[in-house]
Amino acid sequence: MIRVENLHRHFGGFRAVDGASLEIATGSITGLVGPNGAGKSTLFNVIAGALPPTSGRVTMDGEDITGLAPHELFHKGLLRTFQIAHEFSSMTCRENLMMVPGAQSGESLWSAWVHRARIREEEAALLKKADEVLDFLTISHLKDELAGNLSGGQKKLLELGRTMMVDAKVVFLDEVGAGVNRTLLNTIGDAIQRLNRERGYTFCVIEHDMDFIARLCDPVIVMAEGKVLAEGSIAEIKSDERVIEAYLGT
Ligand code: ADP
Ligand code: MG
Repeated sequence: MIRVENLHRHFGGFRAVDGASLEIATGSITGLVGPNGAGKSTLFNVIAGALPPTSGRVTMDGEDITGLAPHELFHKGLLRTFQIAHEFSSMTCRENLMMVPGAQSGESLWSAWVHRARIREEEAALLKKADEVLDFLTISHLKDELAGNLSGGQKKLLELGRTMMVDAKVVFLDEVGAGVNRTLLNTIGDAIQRLNRERGYTFCVIEHDMDFIARLCDPVIVMAEGKVLAEGSIAEIKSDERVIEAYLGT
């Protein structure tokens, strides 16, 4: 689904991503691991349009998507989750889901006025969808809770939920488990797996928790110093001398 070819992203003279090439197969949950500073987040930022590459190419189903803006990628079904912004913390979970851009069609005040009845219908559909998403993620009981009151893990579930409000094809998750307790991490893992199996989502997941990666991901790609060092099953990369060395070197 996604092919990254010889991608570079430099900051001044520093090569955060230094000629990375990799593929994310349709239907996979691909893991991306590597020591701190390996360039994983920078790679995600370039793929998802938050940062332009210095050079290299990214394609999605064969189409060149290099340097497209996040909203253009969003419409193609390529999403990365974002932390819930401060201004959304005083909205409820349900409202947060209903705010997802592209999930509604009330483009202008004029069309809102002309199509008031249709908008109302769409709003009802949106509400239904938001409730389905909350149900799918097993957080229905939090629908009227303010996003700002959620725990770290619950916020991650809500962030995942936002990808479900549009028709995502491939979702990039950066350190979804950071600061999340074991129970919620399992819930998040289950949600990812079910989205993959039941909804056909492809995932690329950055995570430091190797148990989480081992349970979910195949293949696993290892990055170090801006390059792809190894790729394979979790068993293969765990016994790879170069991978062990890269982790020990930090
Ligand atoms: P990872 O996610 O694998 O820990 P990052 O992609 O966040 O790694 O960072 C890779 C390297 O690039 C780090 O050394 C980091 O300090 C550097 N870096 C990331 N973003 C910037 C930036 N905006 N300006 C300068 N250096 C950056
Ligand atoms: Mg990172």
